[in-house]
Amino acid sequence: MAEILNITRFGNPILRQIAKRLTRDEILSHDTQSLINNMRYKPTPNRPELEPFDTVLINPEIVETFGEPTSAWEGCVSCGTDDDILFAQVLRFKKVRVTWLDEYAVSHEEIIEGFVAQVVQHETDHLNGVLFVDHVQDSTSFMMADEYRKRILSK
Ligand SMILES: [Zn+2]
Repeated sequence: MAEILNITRFGNPILRQIAKRLTRDEILSHDTQSLINNMRYKPTPNRPELEPFDTVLINPEIVETFGEPTSAWEGCVSCGTDDDILFAQVLRFKKVRVTWLDEYAVSHEEIIEGFVAQVVQHETDHLNGVLFVDHVQDSTSFMMADEYRKRILSK
């Protein structure tokens, strides 16, 4: 059974640090494999339309972006849970080329599009100490998850 992971919340300085890249041996270690199993897809009520995305990306790097960034709604579990997740509009690329290692330390390079591309940009930012609020252009777009579901998702 998966253990419940602690979520690091906004304000913790670790969220502003640059993450260490994992070596092949570190990826294949028992601790990392156990962490991967505990981080597998968890459904979210804020994105009910999504298909499960079950790909492990370790040491991801966005090596190319396509087009201009466009506005997209985004939240982060590091700044709330359930109805208290903060959402806002950020600028993200719709299409990115990404390199990464999988859970077997095998390297991949793919063009990723749509919402998954947005997630990859959000999570890659975390590894570089960048938070989604750093990308918010219009501070009047901030809203809590329940208001986001009511006002944006239901449209
Ligand atoms: Zn986040």
